[in-house]
Amino acid sequence: MTADVVGWPAADAEKYRNAGYWRGETFARFLGARARAHGDRLAVVDDRTRLSYAELDDRSDRVARGLTELGITSGDRVLVQLPNRVEFLLLWFALMKTGAVPVHTQPGHRSSEMTHLARLSEAVAYVIPDVHAEFDHRLLAQAVRSESPALKHIVVVGDPGPGTGFTSFADLLTTGPAPVAPASGARGEDLALLLLSGGTTGLPKLIPRTHDDYLYNGRAAGEVCALTADSVYLAALPVAFNYTMNCPGVLGTLGVGGTVVLASDPDPDYCFGLIEREGVTIAAINPQMASVWLDEVSMTDADLSTLRVLQVGSARLADDMAERMIDGFGCTIQQVFGMAEGLLCLTRLTDPPEIIATAQGRPISPADEVRVAGPDDQEVAEGEEGELLTRGPYTLRGYYRAPEHNAKSFTADGFYRSGDLVRRLPSGHLVVVGRSKDQINRGGEKIPATEVEGHLLAHPGIRSVALVAAPDEDFGERSVAFLVPTGTRAPDRAELAVFLADRGLAAYKAPDEVRVLDVMPLTPVGKMDKKALTASLRNGSAG
Ligand code: AMP
Repeated sequence: MTADVVGWPAADAEKYRNAGYWRGETFARFLGARARAHGDRLAVVDDRTRLSYAELDDRSDRVARGLTELGITSGDRVLVQLPNRVEFLLLWFALMKTGAVPVHTQPGHRSSEMTHLARLSEAVAYVIPDVHAEFDHRLLAQAVRSESPALKHIVVVGDPGPGTGFTSFADLLTTGPAPVAPASGARGEDLALLLLSGGTTGLPKLIPRTHDDYLYNGRAAGEVCALTADSVYLAALPVAFNYTMNCPGVLGTLGVGGTVVLASDPDPDYCFGLIEREGVTIAAINPQMASVWLDEVSMTDADLSTLRVLQVGSARLADDMAERMIDGFGCTIQQVFGMAEGLLCLTRLTDPPEIIATAQGRPISPADEVRVAGPDDQEVAEGEEGELLTRGPYTLRGYYRAPEHNAKSFTADGFYRSGDLVRRLPSGHLVVVGRSKDQINRGGEKIPATEVEGHLLAHPGIRSVALVAAPDEDFGERSVAFLVPTGTRAPDRAELAVFLADRGLAAYKAPDEVRVLDVMPLTPVGKMDKKALTASLRNGSAG
């Protein structure tokens, strides 16, 4: 462990090893072992490529060698911003084989987020597609590189463009077939990857995940979902999300020798076609997609009979929608409530429909410790609502390079303060009833309110601003910016969207709605009263 990462106390680590949760394995050897066991079986499919385990292992060896020749070595951080294509996995496993650490970013991140992540992680390389979703990532990478002194290499899947000095991913693949030696000193407890936190205050934080903890996370989730080598997992959400990657997702499926199908789009017609063509047995979506898929499922001609489990998570699934899904899809619906910080809750495949329709799952590991706590961090009475505090064998003990934030985000005894308000049922299932953190969950995409407010305050027409969540039929929540203008004319939504895009912010963070106030309501201690603003949205008194 480096000082950048807060590890588990020795006594807990020993407990997790003795219980067999942590096995000292690493992702460096993960594919090699699977290739020996399942060499000819199909590992991964995307819109253009199909690779067996042997091919995935061999090609990621080549990429690892290419990365090594570029000078990337054990411990280096590498920003990864790739869409759902096999190159994501080739790169990811190649990084594991060299001992380098992928930093998972989101496809929609722009220069503000990417520069921050590059600087925080001191990444030496940044891997991008050339153009994706009509956006030229090469221009973004140029901007990020000019602001990030440690960033030496930009690797492009596709055309690097003339005179950019960028490296072509295809060139990495053409290096010799000699396998790279597994990273020296890579141990189970070492840092394997950095995930992105949804964030509440300031700029996004990075979540360190070790080989031991991330391998256990995927394996335990795979057991709950009864994954086998015959399982076929459809990744319809971005593969870099923890949900898609490891809940049980891509890694849980590859771990047991199953097949991963990478969808380039969550569109139901296309995804239903993939389910039929590849015989998908398990898929993962969010509540926003759930309503679109449900509308389509009764009309589709596609044969979905192979689908056994449809996971829905990353934002609250309304109980009535859950019921409609249980009726509408001829398979088991599974609610997923998890966080990139660690804790993962799943409803069980054998849970009764009334639990699946109303609860967001229960922890996947017997070693997950969950406290439903009041403001004093003490357990509330059984069945009462409180903040979810948690620690366990795959939940972080500290964010990456964030000592001040860590002092607030964890209890003295190492429980992570999730900021989620929950109730625990006698069965151990959790029901998510709300959130105490200053964040908007827009269809699963998390918007840290203070980050966006900080940018909006830079607008000359805004004196003060508060970003709050409003209920939304499509997204579950949408963002509303309450603002007090400096002059008589307040900027409108379209103007703010352009302003934020110019500041390099991801588009999903732009307010969905703007409401103008004469004065900002304040609490007795002089803070912006977001509760009053949220309440006003419900009773229609503001704006
Ligand atoms: P992320 O780390 O981006 O996966 O975000 C984790 C956060 O998403 C959690 O702390 C919750 O606030 C929210 N979340 C995830 N799944 C659910 C769910 N099933 N119901 C309600 N909120 C959820």
